[in-house]
Amino acid sequence: MGTGGARVGARVRSRRGRARCPPAVFPVRPARLAPMRIVVLAGGIGGARFLRGLKRAVPDADVTVIGNTGDDIHLFGLKVCPDLDTVMYTLGGGINEEQGWGRAEETFHLKEELAAYGVGPEWFGLGDRDFATHIVRTQMLGAGYPLSAVTEALCDRWKPGVRLIPMTDDRVETHVAVEVDGERRAIHFQEYWVRLRASVPAAAIVPVGAEQAKPAPGVLEAIGAADVILFPPSNPVVSIGTILAVPGIREAIAEAGVPVVGLSPIVGDAPVRGMADKVLAAVGVESTAAAVAEHYGSGLLDGWLVDTVDAAVVERVEADGIRCRAVPLMMTDVDATARMAQEALALAEEVRPA
Ligand code: GDP
Ligand code: CA
Repeated sequence: MGTGGARVGARVRSRRGRARCPPAVFPVRPARLAPMRIVVLAGGIGGARFLRGLKRAVPDADVTVIGNTGDDIHLFGLKVCPDLDTVMYTLGGGINEEQGWGRAEETFHLKEELAAYGVGPEWFGLGDRDFATHIVRTQMLGAGYPLSAVTEALCDRWKPGVRLIPMTDDRVETHVAVEVDGERRAIHFQEYWVRLRASVPAAAIVPVGAEQAKPAPGVLEAIGAADVILFPPSNPVVSIGTILAVPGIREAIAEAGVPVVGLSPIVGDAPVRGMADKVLAAVGVESTAAAVAEHYGSGLLDGWLVDTVDAAVVERVEADGIRCRAVPLMMTDVDATARMAQEALALAEEVRPA
């Protein structure tokens, strides 16, 4: 809380300054705390869980989430946006907590019926409750609404307490170049991640369509108005990397003139969860907290949090011009995650340009 207070305090002082003007000329407005405006670039599970902690740490903050849509896939004629939905369900109270994705109290009748017709893929877990989200989304897209408007409509139900915007309304699909039976071919990211469990080496990761994509309405505006920009412990390649690949987003963040602080998804030289090491290898980055910070670079990042087990790398990261602190980074529960968010905001204040 200390951090949020520090920033908010600064604003109150400036408001009080104005309020000292003679009331007859300038009507006195009650001194109100201006909410801190935080922009978060988020993938799925890592991003969503961090956001829940951030909301606990600064409940009054105005949080805009720019969500990754490179993981999106068309299945059974439906548009599925796994990362947007993970954020929406997690913050809206509908997530399957153990899994970290999909709906709580889920059933799989529809999938079983499809399988009975021989219609797959069977490797992607879509439950009955979850299907409804994809049906509504696909129907609205078919009616001509852009994905950003559809996401807003879905969030009307879930009330995630943040503004969730897809990185783009355009189609971007992350493909992975792999060698299967001695033959190199590109497969959809979900096939690589979910079906193959990243078990074959990835030669390249390509966000197909990103070069032509435009940031969704509100994305650049939110970045431009932000007090702080955070990179949660999301996948640096296929979540945050994909968002940054949409022309204009990386530039807007670098030029925003506000602190940009990230939290490492790599702890003790391995991803806390999942196979991020495999996609980091594909882009030539070693699986360490320091290497990920260097991959983002001091042109983008002002501050970087590593876990206490990686305290030895703090000096190396700081030598690269990125302020670094070692703090506990395991999101074991919401309180622990809230403390991580507080640390990130505290570091943001430390690096805030005068
Ligand atoms: P995805 O889209 O579901 O893969 O989720 P994200 O891209 O948002 O986040 C995935 C990353 O979160 C993985 O690389 C994990 O290492 C990281 N992660 C998951 N749980 C934790 C945690 O408790 N602490 C930290 N530091 N990272 C975590
Ligand atoms: Ca994802």
